Amino acid sequence: MSTVTAAQAAYVVAALLFILSLAGLSQHRTSRSGVVWGIAGMVVALAATIGLASESITVTGLALIVVATAVGAGIGLWRARVVEMTGMPELIAIMHSLVGLAAAFVGWNGYLDVDAELSGSLLGIHHAEVFIGVFIGAVTFTGSVVAYLKLSARIDSRPLTLPGKHVLNVGALVAFAGLTVAFVARPNIGLLIAVTVIALALGAHLVASIGGGDMPVVVSMLNSYSGWAAAASGFLLSNNLLIVTGALVGSSGAYLSYIMCKAMNRSFISVIAGGFGTPAAAADEGEQGEHREISAEETAELLRDASSVIITPGYGMAVAQAQYPVAELARKLRERGVEVRFGIHPVAGRLPGHMNVLLAEANVPYDIVLEMDEINDDFAATSVVLVIGANDTVNPAATDNPASPIAGMPVLHVWEAADVVVFKRSMAAGYAGVQNPLFFRENSQMLFGDAKQRVEDILRALDSLDAPVPEMAGSSR
Ligand code: NDP
Repeated sequence: MSTVTAAQAAYVVAALLFILSLAGLSQHRTSRSGVVWGIAGMVVALAATIGLASESITVTGLALIVVATAVGAGIGLWRARVVEMTGMPELIAIMHSLVGLAAAFVGWNGYLDVDAELSGSLLGIHHAEVFIGVFIGAVTFTGSVVAYLKLSARIDSRPLTLPGKHVLNVGALVAFAGLTVAFVARPNIGLLIAVTVIALALGAHLVASIGGGDMPVVVSMLNSYSGWAAAASGFLLSNNLLIVTGALVGSSGAYLSYIMCKAMNRSFISVIAGGFGTPAAAADEGEQGEHREISAEETAELLRDASSVIITPGYGMAVAQAQYPVAELARKLRERGVEVRFGIHPVAGRLPGHMNVLLAEANVPYDIVLEMDEINDDFAATSVVLVIGANDTVNPAATDNPASPIAGMPVLHVWEAADVVVFKRSMAAGYAGVQNPLFFRENSQMLFGDAKQRVEDILRALDSLDAPVPEMAGSSR
């Protein structure tokens, strides 16, 4: 069997492994095996590609590929080991930017180094591939860089609202279509530079125009773009695996964006067209009244007397790494006969499934972790809700205030419970920058401080409340 045939066969195996990986990643229980399938697919793909390249390049070229692979793998391993769970979305965004940059470079290379055997309509198709690849790659690159800057709070997460922003976006797309036709007819470097500049500006503008609350959709949308960028490179390089993998990433990312838009009651088209949220004044909501504070000991008493408890975690639980004491608290309360469940908002935290991963890490049983739609009707019959580092996802303004920038986004109806305890460090707003009227409701109390420390305080307080129990055998509450 020739090297080329062996490599193509290996590509088919790798593609199947990637499909198995996606299937595995779609469920908690199988997600670990999904990751293993993905790693296996990537190893097969890399080995086949290097083997294929060794057929046609010099020893120096091969050595360069091996060195580049080793350096890339080293950086990847190092970043994956040191990244905090809360830093994951930034890491993903910056990785998408690299895929975009690579696709743009492959496109440029395709222009500078045209296969001499191409002619006629095949040459036209080649030039169209170059142009489209550079465009998608450059949009993905700057879009992902801006997403990285927003997610890491290096720039303001509020939407940028340039005058006529939709005209700018549509204008860029029309210019791209026109330039593509011109480039296919008469390829020249000036047009390629022009499309690169337009695409870089469009990517940055599209993501900058999207408000904080819609960032989850942007992250999965950029995931999708990076897939299409890779597929475009696959066409240019005549690499079937890159085409298949790019299409898998592109379509699964697009579908994830669609699911997230549905979960957030957003229009997919409006979000990707540069922002859904009205630029309504988030600033008009400064003070909303008085808030009440509660101590860890008082919270422990509330929990001791509760018959049912729902815990709604958010980004703050991830920051505090509070999932372990939270899992311990749930276990203790269940041992006491309290019904404990978790209510998970689809965009809680900073990446899809963020809370599910943290709770699984802390061995919280899957059957008490419920999705928002499964639990939202149960809050009214619940004694105590513990809001652990969540904010936007439990904001009643989304349902009550049509002028709110997050109006229309479905939220967890925590305020319907008898008592709500909100764990956070200050009265600061959540990711979307919107004040939360929940904190000022009569049945809400604030438990200030780091979520992990406060939950540990509650665990200690519960233990000391347990101590006098034997004397109180006759009393009931
Ligand atoms: P938010 O980001 O709205 O709020 C988190 C809260 O946690 C803050 O108000 C903060 O308050 C508190 N907090 C931070 N650190 C700690 C700590 N150590 N201890 C206790 N509290 C802490 O969280 P949600 O999860 O409710 O909402 C997620 C938001 O992120 C949504 O707007 C969503 O659209 C967006 N987003 C989601 C993505 C996803 O895919 N899931 C991706 C990108 C964005 P304080 O500072 O006062 O402590």
